[in-house]
Amino acid sequence: MDLGAWPRVPLAHLPTPLEPMDRLRRALGTERAVWVKRDDATGLAGGGNKTRKLEYLAAEAKAAGADWLVTTGGVQSNHARQTAAAAARLGMGCDLVLTRAVPDRDAGYESTGNVQLDHLLGAHVQIHPVGTDRGEAMDAVAARRRVQGHTPFVIPTGGSTETGALGYVRAALELVNQAVDRDLAIGTIVVPASSGGTLAGLLVGLHALNHSARVIGIDVEADAATTRRTVAGLAASTARRLGVEPPPGERLHIEGAHAGPAYGIPTDATLAAARMAARTEGLVLDPVYSAKAMAGLLHGLDTGALAGEGAVVFVHTGGLPGLFAYPEAAGPAA
Ligand SMILES: *Cc1c(COP(=O)(O)O)cnc(C)c1O
Repeated sequence: MDLGAWPRVPLAHLPTPLEPMDRLRRALGTERAVWVKRDDATGLAGGGNKTRKLEYLAAEAKAAGADWLVTTGGVQSNHARQTAAAAARLGMGCDLVLTRAVPDRDAGYESTGNVQLDHLLGAHVQIHPVGTDRGEAMDAVAARRRVQGHTPFVIPTGGSTETGALGYVRAALELVNQAVDRDLAIGTIVVPASSGGTLAGLLVGLHALNHSARVIGIDVEADAATTRRTVAGLAASTARRLGVEPPPGERLHIEGAHAGPAYGIPTDATLAAARMAARTEGLVLDPVYSAKAMAGLLHGLDTGALAGEGAVVFVHTGGLPGLFAYPEAAGPAA
C-alpha cells in the first residue's frame, strides 16, 4: 500500500494528539486503559473528522480543474462547515445543500453553530425540506455554477467516497505509529458511524497493517443495517483502489443500540455520556455523533462487552459547533 502516492492537500493539524483519559477510567472503576484520539483537534475552522477526508477530496477536485466545491448534509452538518473552510483556504467557491434532517428543533437550529460558521466562511447556503434528494439538488446547483463559467466538484454526504476514506486509512497509520511510540497496545477502537468513511478507512488501514485491533462503529443513524452495508461497500472499494486486501466481514462491527430514536436526537444516555466526558476530562462531545459513540463505549465497559486485552481508544470525531444547537445538553451543575 503506497498511500504517499495519492495527491493530498494539507488542511489538518496532524498528527492529532493521542491522550489518556485517566479520570474517566477511574470514574468508571476499570483497570482498562482508555485513550482518546483527538480528531476533534484537526484545526480547520473548529476541526473534526471531515478535514482528513477533505485533504484527499480537495486534491481530487484540484486535479479535476475545479474552482468550486458543492456538498450536502443535515442543517448542522460538520462536514459542510469543514468543506466551506477548505474551500476558503483553497480560494474556491462553495455551495452547501443542507436538508432539514432533524425534526422539531427551535428557530436557532438553522442559524447557530455550524450554520453560523458556514455563513462566516463565505459559503452559499441553501436549506431544503426533509426528504429532498441531496444528489439531485447538488447536481442542480453544480449545473448553475457551470453556466456561470465555474468548474464545480460535487462531494457526497460526509465526504464518504473511496477518496475521502483515504484520510482515515492515513489516520490508522498515524494512530498505530503513535501507539508504538508510547509502547501502547491497542485492543479496541470505538468510533461513531454515519456516512461510513471514517470507519471504512480505519478498517482498511488497520487490516493492511495486519493490526488486530477490534474496531467498533457506533451507528448514529438509527439504521444499523444500512450503516453496516454502507461501510462494508466503502471498505471494499477503498481497499480495491489502494490495491490491498479488503477487511473481511467479521472485522466489521456495527453497534446499533446507542443511536436513540433517530439521527440527531440525543437520548438520556447520550447526554449523560457528554456530561461524563466533559466533567471528568474537560472533553466536549456533541449530541449527534461523538456522545452517542461515548455512550456505546461506557456501556461496553460497564457490561463487559468491550472486555479484552489492550487499550480502548475512543476516536473523537469533533462536532463541537453542533453542540450550540442543543442548549439542553449542558445539564445542571455537577
Ligand atoms: C460526520 C461525523 C461523524 C461520522 O463520520 P462518518 O465518516 O460519516 O461515518 C462522526 N462525528 C462527527 C462529529 C461528524 O461530523
